[in-house]
Amino acid sequence: MIKYQHVLVASDLTDGSDIVIKKAEELAKQMGSHLSLLHVVEPLPGYGYAFVGSAEIELQLVEEAKRQLAKLGKQLNVKEGDQYVEIGPTKIEITRVAEEIGVDLIIVGSHGRHGLSNLLGSTANAVVHNANCDVLTIRLK
Ligand code: AMP
Repeated sequence: MIKYQHVLVASDLTDGSDIVIKKAEELAKQMGSHLSLLHVVEPLPGYGYAFVGSAEIELQLVEEAKRQLAKLGKQLNVKEGDQYVEIGPTKIEITRVAEEIGVDLIIVGSHGRHGLSNLLGSTANAVVHNANCDVLTIRLK
């Protein structure tokens, strides 16, 4: 059996992503992998212009994401140092963090879009094409 040493699970923290978390948890357990969790907070539109309070809202989003990741971390036995909350474009941040912490597998959900919406680019698509490591996409309902 192939064993991945370090697995990064990127979660949008929505209810629909439970299946991604569940499968990642089981796979990591079976392979004895080190597990890391990532949530990305997208910069608010207009940030950098005169949008008063946007930095504060962003900070609140980061704090809320940290709380949710901590809860998830407890459930999956992932320690705080392996829980990442980053601000930036999601597609870029997932592959950047993966490289920075040296994972050999990224797990993301995929809605399996077709046609135009696929051309416009899903997160999973971008990660598959930009990552330097293997990527497992979990089909979302
Ligand atoms: P989407 O392209 O929005 O359908 O998202 C597909 C998958 O990309 C999700 O199931 C997550 O694995 C990942 N993803 C999307 N948004 C985020 C986010 N803000 N932070 C971390 N991962 C994300």
